[in-house]
Amino acid sequence: MRGSWQLGQVAGIRLQVHWTFLILIAWVVLQHASQGANALQVAVGVALVLAVFGCVILHELGHALTARRFGILTRDITLLPIGGVARLERMPDDPRQELLVAIAGPAVNVVIAAVLWAVLSATGTLPSLADAARVGGSFLGTLLAVNVVLVGFNLLPAFPMDGGRVLRALLALKLPYARATRIAANAGTGMAVLFGFAGLMTANPFLLFIALFVYLGAQSEAQQTETRVALGGLSVRDAMMTRFTMLPDDATLGDAAEELLAGAQQDFPITTGGRLRGLLSRSALVVHLRQRGREARVGEFASGGCQTATEYEPLENAVARMRETRCNSIPVLRDGLVVGLLTLENVSELLLLAGAGRGSLRSG
Ligand SMILES: [Zn+2]
Repeated sequence: MRGSWQLGQVAGIRLQVHWTFLILIAWVVLQHASQGANALQVAVGVALVLAVFGCVILHELGHALTARRFGILTRDITLLPIGGVARLERMPDDPRQELLVAIAGPAVNVVIAAVLWAVLSATGTLPSLADAARVGGSFLGTLLAVNVVLVGFNLLPAFPMDGGRVLRALLALKLPYARATRIAANAGTGMAVLFGFAGLMTANPFLLFIALFVYLGAQSEAQQTETRVALGGLSVRDAMMTRFTMLPDDATLGDAAEELLAGAQQDFPITTGGRLRGLLSRSALVVHLRQRGREARVGEFASGGCQTATEYEPLENAVARMRETRCNSIPVLRDGLVVGLLTLENVSELLLLAGAGRGSLRSG
């Protein structure tokens, strides 16, 4: 994620923190200061936030290490002010595995809470609920309360919370995956409305924020799954353009501009002796045309920033790569020669057609 600093590595997984996390720390300091806390109490407050996020990291590691048992790697874990995000390479296809991966996170917080509870009970310092919620209250008592809240919040049966995945996995044991996702996403939307309503009634901005977060999460999960289901079983060959224009590296930017105006193609593969040298995107063309004029050679500006695809690889993988590298088009290669051009426009047209032939997917 952009704007993140790397903290270190645990079990081969990069741990990073997003800069907005600093805002949370600043908020805690201000909150304490406004209640007349002294420097020590402020330090304890900040330490408590860091301890909570330590618990969040352990929660995310619970997901990541369980996924690894099923052969799924995790790219990184990022800490945001609203919690942690573990970027798994993919979710398991088997609902039973997804269930275990989803539940492993909250299970970690249950264990932490149980350990804290045992320690506090053994030392006879188990605080009351009111004391745990008070600024400057018992450190471990508050940490225990936070872990209990984390378990409850994460197990709400709505995307993007873990409970949403648990619900989807349970439904998917009996129903098709897309339909299970739709139902879980609808549950998320319903919950977002409830949160929003409660937030308005109690004038609580935090609840409104959660409502928005849950709403967006539910929508994006439903959309991603529908894409995956619709693209499932297709290869790059099914979606690539086979009629497209390539430019030799000694063509001029003026030639490229004419090609851009003549057709619908926006990005052009640049070749040297028939071999791919890179891609000239529309935005790059516009910039270079302004800076260097029509006579400059396209070869100079061929960018290798976008990867390539092969004809028979799963379409889903190629599209995921394009989204990740923010490339609208990628050349498709066979034996080093460009045989097609895959564009996100083509893929969305394919999705539209698939959607039209599969109305039941949306009405669920
Ligand atoms: Zn989780």
